[in-house]
Amino acid sequence: MGLSRSEQMSRIRGRNTSPERLLRSALWRAGLRFRLQSRTPHGRPDVVFAKARVAIFIDGCFWHGCPEHYVRPRTRNEFWSSKLRENVERDRRQTLQLEALGWRVCRFWEHQVFESMLELVETVRSALRDEQWAPYHSWRVIQVDALPGEGDMERRWMEDLRSPEVRHSVEAKRSTKKWKRALNQSGSTL
Ligand SMILES: [Zn+2]
Repeated sequence: MGLSRSEQMSRIRGRNTSPERLLRSALWRAGLRFRLQSRTPHGRPDVVFAKARVAIFIDGCFWHGCPEHYVRPRTRNEFWSSKLRENVERDRRQTLQLEALGWRVCRFWEHQVFESMLELVETVRSALRDEQWAPYHSWRVIQVDALPGEGDMERRWMEDLRSPEVRHSVEAKRSTKKWKRALNQSGSTL
């Protein structure tokens, strides 16, 4: 059975509206010029302003531990926990290494591209200007433990992107707010 027209359209839209593409075209429209596929001494950011030494990464909400959208898988807890931790540690290492070399690193969540693009463009602008840039604070989920008892409660541990010693945890009902779903809903308005 073939795809309906609306299914075909949503597939096409899916390809053209990856968060990376959307951010790149918003930056371009804002008059900011950068190179595609540039490397840095530490990794390959999604957007690189090589001369100004500004690197921009877009982090997927699930894989990088977004506090709003990380959803604890029901099975293989140890596997997923160590995967999450590895990703956050890689993000941290990359960020700190670049910053140690004088780079300014912006790490945006996938969901921010759809929810607050103007803010992101402004953040990039201020990173490109010399004055008044301070790396901003960003929480990452690093582990989620199911709590015993009824009610599907869990404890979510979070760490600061740059400082692992800055951490806290919250107890809450199991989060099920995956970003993917929100993306499909807002896709039609893009
Ligand atoms: Zn998110």
